[in-house]
Amino acid sequence: MQSAVIIRYCEIHLKGKNRSYFEKLLKENIKNAVKDIQCDFVAMHSRYLLENFKDEDLPLIEEKLKKTAGIHSYSIACVVESNIENIYGAVSLLLKDKAGTFKIITNRADKTFSPDSMQTSVLLGGRVLEEYGDNLKVDVKEPQIPVYVDIREDGKTFVYTETIHCMSGMPVGSAGKGLLLISGGIDSPVAGYMMCKRGMRLDCLHFHSFPYTGEAAKEKVKTLAAKLAEYNGGINLYVVSFTHIQEEIHKHCPEEYMITIMRRFMMRIAERLANDKGAQAIITGESLGQVASQTIESITSSNSVVTMPVLRPLIAFDKIDIIDIARKIDTYETSILPYEDCCTVFLPKFPAIKPNLEKVKKAEAKLDVQSLTEEALKSIEKITI
Ligand code: ATP
Ligand code: MG
Repeated sequence: MQSAVIIRYCEIHLKGKNRSYFEKLLKENIKNAVKDIQCDFVAMHSRYLLENFKDEDLPLIEEKLKKTAGIHSYSIACVVESNIENIYGAVSLLLKDKAGTFKIITNRADKTFSPDSMQTSVLLGGRVLEEYGDNLKVDVKEPQIPVYVDIREDGKTFVYTETIHCMSGMPVGSAGKGLLLISGGIDSPVAGYMMCKRGMRLDCLHFHSFPYTGEAAKEKVKTLAAKLAEYNGGINLYVVSFTHIQEEIHKHCPEEYMITIMRRFMMRIAERLANDKGAQAIITGESLGQVASQTIESITSSNSVVTMPVLRPLIAFDKIDIIDIARKIDTYETSILPYEDCCTVFLPKFPAIKPNLEKVKKAEAKLDVQSLTEEALKSIEKITI
């Protein structure tokens, strides 16, 4: 029996006059996600269809749909000619090994189809009871197995029982572009995923401290960026050398401000790169109070060197909740690989937990901030994934 995937979208319904813009974007994103799989894409009213694919490609199609922001859910339907015999054939196939309560829910887009929706449901339900009455009973209020029968205008009918929920959110590209500061840790890939889910397209920036951090640390970040690329429709990863800046801070500034001043440099470099690449926001994986560099005083200090919005989607998340998402998006196992991050190089024993902004500025004045920033920007390497 032929199958089709019915794809439903979510908040786009609420977008009033802009709706067609969001629909067009989602359509492009879905087509792009399945571009290497042989199938036909059909746009219908308020939903999309994938048809004429090979059965063995279905698992891959499902994986792609689950990683496309803006899709609310999908169902895999049997497609048959619109006549009662064929429709019942599909219903019977779907219910054959099932037990519990069911209800047939018929919807006729083709109003010429006879009998009407109610009678079709009654007729099909009766035949189910005749065939599978030992295992299946009718429950019209809260059926365990709802059986949907969609009679389309084009002479075909869809029959399905399951609705698989996807990531929801908004189509990637509908909410501008952001530059994600990606470390090798658990939090920043999750932060990137959350922004993708809300429709922001990502570029990534990673600070590398060769030779203090090695090739394996960079490979790890590439792997994480590749996982995000699946949600983002590809990704650009920019890698900047941070070594000289760290050495200079270490040499000239009080140890307790090492991290604070490093983070100010990261923000300055990020803002410059974001402007250069047309990104409208900086994204970090910071979570309030998680470590010394994420107290409100530390955040104030790093935030004060930039004017671009800094989005911190995890600010109110507990680590345990962040880990849950990291597992769901399959970044966790990579993130916990034990390679050094530039933030763990020159780590002070007692970092300032509530850095005083005036004192930080005074400490930083010992450095040539401008030329160190320019030098770092010149070291940029672009990796396209
Ligand atoms: P993560 O798990 O993402 O590494 P973290 O809990 O280790 O976060 P920090 O090391 O304080 O926290 O980093 C806070 C945020 O700063 C990170 O989430 C990330 O956005 C950014 N960041 C930290 N290190 C780097 C780096 N080497 N390159 C780019 N961004 C970084
Ligand atoms: Mg980190």
